[in-house]
Amino acid sequence: MGLSDIQARIASSARGVGRAPEDVTLIAVSKVQPPERVEAVLEEGHRVFGENRVQEATGKWPGFMARFTGVDLHLIGPLQGNKVRQAVELFSTIHSVDRPKLARRLADLAQERGACPDLFIQVNTGEEPQKAGILPGDADTFIAECRSMDLPLRGLMCIPPVEEEPALHFALLGKIAARNGLAGLSMGMSGDFETAVALGATHVRVGSAIFGARAYG
Ligand SMILES: *Cc1c(COP(=O)(O)O)cnc(C)c1O
Repeated sequence: MGLSDIQARIASSARGVGRAPEDVTLIAVSKVQPPERVEAVLEEGHRVFGENRVQEATGKWPGFMARFTGVDLHLIGPLQGNKVRQAVELFSTIHSVDRPKLARRLADLAQERGACPDLFIQVNTGEEPQKAGILPGDADTFIAECRSMDLPLRGLMCIPPVEEEPALHFALLGKIAARNGLAGLSMGMSGDFETAVALGATHVRVGSAIFGARAYG
């Protein structure tokens, strides 16, 4: 495994369904990884990274960004109300818009700052009670609501239930995006990114397959 291997597998999966590999953005998910592993991937030339906690990202990325130009940071985890300002200042893209109150706060900050990160709405495709995200049945309404606030909505994101066939969830996400005219699909992780690319993912979020297993503790 490693960065170049993942890039090759993305390219091959894309070509297999007649897509251009460059239409898929590889987000290297660096959460919890030791700095030397992140630095190695930066040294290899990769610039697109994902973090799931605002606090952790705020601690570690300004230092890397001072040393490496062109870093593009994506927030892929839940966003609490009291972290929104920090988040819009650090991240180019937020993949976890999951409630009207957050959309409203983002819209207020967009007006104040004259800029807003690109946004993805997280859809809880498995309707799991413990998981964040808008329910599939509420997605069309919430998408319309975000659009009425003039937010830069790029697409949809999902995290399929671990025990289910991810392809069904990727297909559902693609269907909701298509009927709402949204081009972006943030889906696919270490175990299923090739399936996601075959089903139209524009952004895959790959952590352990690039960096190695995460050591929590
Ligand atoms: C951690 C995480 C990933 C990456 O998971 P891997 O299995 O390590 O590739 C992708 N998406 C989200 C939302 C995550 O929290």
